Amino acid sequence: MKQVKHMKWWGWGEEGVFFNYANKPAFAPFVKKHLGIDLRPRQVDTIPFDASTVPDSPLPDALRDALVAATASDRVTTDAHERVVHGHGSSVTELLHVSRFDYGRLPEVVVYPETDDEVAAVLRACVEADAVVVPFGGGTNISRSLQLDPTEARPIVSLDMGLLVGVHELDTESGLARIGAGMLGPDLEEALNARGWTLGHFPDSFTHSTLGGWAATRSSGMQSDKYGDIADIIRGMTVVRPSGTVTLKPVPSESTGPSLREMFIGSEGRLGVITDVWVRVHRLAEERVVVAYMYPTWSDAVDAIHSIAEAEVPTTFVRISDAHETAFSLSTQKEAVTLKKKVEAKAQEQLWAFMRRRGWDTDQMCISYVCFEGSKGDVDGRRRDVALIAKRHGALTLGTGPGALYDQKKFDTPYLRDFLLEQDVMGDVSETAAPWSRINTIHDSVYVAAQDAFDKLGKQGFIMCHLSHSYHVGACLYFTFAFQAGEEPDREYATVKTAIQQAFVDNGGTLSHHHGVGMEHAPWMEQVVSTEGVNLMRTLFNATDPGNHLNPGKIVDASLSLYDQL
Ligand SMILES: Cc1cc2nc3c(=O)[nH]c(=O)nc-3n(C[C@H](O)[C@H](O)[C@H](O)COP(=O)(O)OP(=O)(O)OC[C@H]3O[C@@H](n4cnc5c(N)ncnc54)[C@H](O)[C@@H]3O)c2cc1C
Repeated sequence: MKQVKHMKWWGWGEEGVFFNYANKPAFAPFVKKHLGIDLRPRQVDTIPFDASTVPDSPLPDALRDALVAATASDRVTTDAHERVVHGHGSSVTELLHVSRFDYGRLPEVVVYPETDDEVAAVLRACVEADAVVVPFGGGTNISRSLQLDPTEARPIVSLDMGLLVGVHELDTESGLARIGAGMLGPDLEEALNARGWTLGHFPDSFTHSTLGGWAATRSSGMQSDKYGDIADIIRGMTVVRPSGTVTLKPVPSESTGPSLREMFIGSEGRLGVITDVWVRVHRLAEERVVVAYMYPTWSDAVDAIHSIAEAEVPTTFVRISDAHETAFSLSTQKEAVTLKKKVEAKAQEQLWAFMRRRGWDTDQMCISYVCFEGSKGDVDGRRRDVALIAKRHGALTLGTGPGALYDQKKFDTPYLRDFLLEQDVMGDVSETAAPWSRINTIHDSVYVAAQDAFDKLGKQGFIMCHLSHSYHVGACLYFTFAFQAGEEPDREYATVKTAIQQAFVDNGGTLSHHHGVGMEHAPWMEQVVSTEGVNLMRTLFNATDPGNHLNPGKIVDASLSLYDQL
């Protein structure tokens, strides 16, 4: 479907955009030191889809006719490329297999409804034909919430949300907007910005993910300190189910029994199709700056960030990288070619030398970014408050230069994963949220658990972490890990990933702060929400979808568990 933008079928983002290390002189030595690998020059510009063979779709004629009757003949397709694009999300294991032409179970058909009535008709047709239906937003989830069960014998219909778009209503008096669930981040922000508003929701996957996907996975954007997680942002919604439509009006808050809104948020397609969402929106800030600080150690940095949260300084985001992540981001600095950049590089070297003379161990230092928004007066005042706290914890303020650079580069990092996969390196992330009292324990335990897993595999691996999304009671810890894949990449990946997830749960963290559950995290649900909690969820899904038609095997009772790989 030409009007709907999709990512490249074999990896992240747009064709023709790559991670490039040729202009980053410290990157290859960094990889050599931490992974023991000599990087090869990038070989893969694209993977020709025509080189693969996709089995024909065995879509039954009666179901095709019913889907066409529900929508239109040019919005029902069994095209091989469409089926492959819609057959997976963006988890590293899915991309590893897809990029090697190993597609797994594909949907038989992709359908593009344009209205709520069409969505309802598609759902009824699927139930009638005993077919499975899986809503598709941008395909960016990394929890395997789109992956299909290879043993599923019934036809599978991928329901692409890409035509259910638009800012349908903007209540400027209340700061509320009703927006089509299929709208991609950039389109949505552009439409709101043109009228002086913003949603303020910027996940790292912003460029390719949708509002409905954010709702269905309980997402969080990097500016959640100010704008809230998607669960705070969403005030109402429409959810189309095979048996009828649930309409939740936008209200600031309500006392109407258990919250249906909360129940649909994070439901990953298992309770119906979210077709539009009422969100709270904010006027565009007059001023926005990102300031960088360098802390001597991780514990100084965590204490400082906790103090900022306790002091309730209104920041837009606060983020600290631990020493490993700080070293990694320094390794991705571009070669200084202009005179201005050469002067800046020299100044940075001199600064590090100065810090060493003052007793800093520069291998331990941790970079932090804090974003401030508001009127000029607000921003200045908040900057002063944070600068005082940072200074009390031994930080050096680096100013707005590195902050602006971080802001510009923030949506480029995902391209690194494709580059690493091409080098046979599996690079992925695991994230949790925990009370402040558990943050340092979790940080340290995850490092130990990951190292044990690397040792078990006999591999040199790398792990790094940042803290972001501060709350009154705690924060999110986000780990990135990498290792060179061997003969059994799925088992190797499962070994490292399960070690990290188990360390979260054993040490007082949750399973995921914002990536959802899918099939990837489902095995830990009992440990996190208790056996009775899982029983309740299972009862809800079974009772509301007795034929198991709506994205089955996600959140609980995963059909493809990570444990199966071990
Ligand atoms: C590089 C990278 C960075 C990321 N960074 C972040 C981040 O910072 N914050 C964050 O929260 N997440 C992040 N993610 C994860 C991912 O982007 C989110 O889970 C996102 O919310 C998924 O949205 P999507 O539109 O791509 O949904 P999809 O991946 O298409 O679908 C995800 C799930 O939601 C269901 N679904 C989708 N749309 C609907 C709908 N309208 N109604 C019902 N169910 C629906 C699908 O069936 C599926 O179960 C990142 C992912 C990658 C690859």
